[in-house]
Parts: sequence; structure tokens; C-alpha cells
Amino acid sequence: MKIKKKRLTDFAVNIFISMGTNEDHAKEVATHLVEANLKGHDSHGVSLIPDYFSSWNKGGLQANADATLEKDKGSIMLVDGNLGFGQVVGRQATDMGIKRAKEVGLACVGSRNNHHLGRIGAYGEHCAKAGLISIHFVNVVGHPPVVSPWGGREARMSTNPFCCAVPTSKGPIVLDMATSAIAGGKVSVANKKGIDVPDGCLFDANGFPTNNPSDFFTGGTLGPFGQHKGYGLGLICELLGGGLAGEWTIQDIDKQENGVTVNGMLMFIIDPDLFGGRSGFEREVKGMSEWLYASQPSSGFDKVRLPGEPECESMAMRLIDGIVIDDQSWLDIVETAKRVGVSEKKIPT
Ligand code: NAD
Repeated sequence: MKIKKKRLTDFAVNIFISMGTNEDHAKEVATHLVEANLKGHDSHGVSLIPDYFSSWNKGGLQANADATLEKDKGSIMLVDGNLGFGQVVGRQATDMGIKRAKEVGLACVGSRNNHHLGRIGAYGEHCAKAGLISIHFVNVVGHPPVVSPWGGREARMSTNPFCCAVPTSKGPIVLDMATSAIAGGKVSVANKKGIDVPDGCLFDANGFPTNNPSDFFTGGTLGPFGQHKGYGLGLICELLGGGLAGEWTIQDIDKQENGVTVNGMLMFIIDPDLFGGRSGFEREVKGMSEWLYASQPSSGFDKVRLPGEPECESMAMRLIDGIVIDDQSWLDIVETAKRVGVSEKKIPT
């Protein structure tokens, strides 16, 4: 299926509204998911709709919940997402942090009990739009682990994303990544498309490296990116996003099986004005960017990019060309739409 942004967004909004979601929440979730597709992260786009339906259907996802401020002292806030759509309650927690960072220069927000937050870069970009720097440590619970620790054969961790966004006058620099060698959703997308995953990302049930995405679904594991370093950063995400902010880490075996994905997130939001001043910081960011761009490309590359640029390039292309959804994902989304009662007329063909 090849579809333009507006038609896809309207379809996703219809599905969420048919699940009983209020219009504002439905629009916010649909917009976030379609933007993930536009930015090239199909694993975090509309193909998640059947999973979200499944979470809601089993009473896990609370479609109309809002975030609530549970504790508030100085620059520190604890926010409960009440199992609402992560795209809504995670953004609400981020807004609380943005407001506090603008008041006192720094906010540290623990955001817990969020249903799947989607693309973490969205929260970094939201802070950057407000002129603020942000750092996000995230864990993933509610289903069994999928990532093996460095030196271990069994899955003991999840894909625990890390994000840091830095505002610049030309758009933010956004490092937004899973700490596994590849995001779990990308293995599912590769499996549906029938293509291999890159070298070094996946191990089969016996701990041997494999490129076959189907091995993941028969006891295989994802490896950490960058060997022991990615494993270490993933663990820090688990301890800060999960242990500190969420009070729920993946070692709690009793809570692994419910199949409702929950993210805990610890965010630091910083006003760059309060250090040497915004202009000095911007000068250094600009200087550093130009310094990197001036590097000769190495073999196999056309140029040096900054983190966040591949997503902007994808978005520019997909806004014109449309978004391609693989056949299996589209069938699953349409099936979900029918189950929640979206009329045939409103299903794009
Ligand atoms: P990725 O490997 O595609 O990109 C990671 C980072 O590298 C990005 O910031 C990207 O801009 C940058 N990058 C890529 N190519 C580059 C280049 N040539 N030069 C400079 N920078 C470059 O991302 P990923 O690890 O597959 O993660 C995909 C998405 O999955 C992210 O949005 C992440 O937040 C999301 N995720 C979410 C969860 C969750 O539970 N909510 C879990 C895991 C991942």
C-alpha cells in the first residue's frame, strides 16, 4: 500500500475514535505514528495499531487517560501516565518539564506507566522546539525481554531507547536510538517484508549470529549495539527510566507476560540560556556541525550527516512520494479497523 500522509492520518484517527478514544487523543496518536513512518521508522509507525488495539482490548491501554503529576519538588517531577497512550501522556509529562525548565533552568521528570511511547525522538524534538536541550532514558516492560546482555546468551533486557536532542537555528540535532543493535520492531518489519537483517544484530536460539529475522521469533535474541558499550547504556536506561522513574524493571518475571508494552522515561530538560548563554552555545554547535560537514566522505558514503538528518531526508521524500506500508502490516491494520467498526467506505484502498 502506498498512501499519502493525510489519508493515512485520517484512517488512523478513525480507528482510534472507533476504539472509544476522544478526538484530541486520537489525532495526537495518529499524527505521532504517521510522523514515525514519514521519518523512516516504519517499526514505530502505523504498523503498531494492531498492537495498540490488542493492549486496549485486554484492558491494558486506557485510551482516554491523561498524565497526572504525582510529586513535585524544585526541578524534579514525578508524572504518572496512568497507562494512557504514550504519545499523549508522554507529551503531557514533557510539557510539564518544558514549563519547569523555562522557570528554573532545569527539569528532571520521571514519567511512569506510559503505554508504548512510540518514537522517543518526538519528545526530544518537542523540547527542542521550545529552545531546550533534552536527554531521555527509557525502558520497556510488559512483555518478555528480547535483548541479550553482552556476554550472555539469553534475553535479559529490552531495546531500551536513549535520546538526546539539541536545538539549533536550522532544526534540532536528534540522536534517537534503541540500545539494541536494531530496534525490535525493525526485525518484525524485515520478517514481514521477507528481507534479512544486517550483520551483528541478531542471534538464534543457540546464540549463533544470524541474518534471518524469523530466528527472532523462535527463541533468538537481539544483541546490544556496540558490544559492551551499548549493553552498558541499555542497562543505564533500564535503571534510570525503569528503576528510578518507573519503579518497574524487566527482571520482574511476574509482570513480563501481560503483553501490554509500558515505557518508563527519565528526562532531563535544560535551558541553554543558563550556562554561558544561548549565543555562545549556538556558536559552538554551528562550528562543530560545519567542522563535521567539512570532512571528506569515506567509501560508501555521499557525505557526513548529523544525527536526525536521515529522518529529515526521509520525511522530505515521503511527504512527496507517499508512505509505503508492507502488505502484511496493511492487512493487519485493515483487519483491526474492521474489528473496531470502521466502515468499509472509510478504509483506504
Ligand atoms: P536508527 O538506528 O535508525 O538511528 C539511530 C540514530 O542514528 C538516529 O538519531 C539517526 O538520526 C542517527 N543516524 C542514522 N544514520 C546516520 C548517519 N548516517 N549519520 C549520522 N546519524 C545517523 O534508529 P533505531 O535504533 O533503529 O531506533 C528507531 C526508533 O525506535 C527510534 O525512534 C526509537 O526511539 C524507537 N524505539 C522506541 C522504543 C519504545 O519502546 N518506545 C524502543 C526502541 C526503539
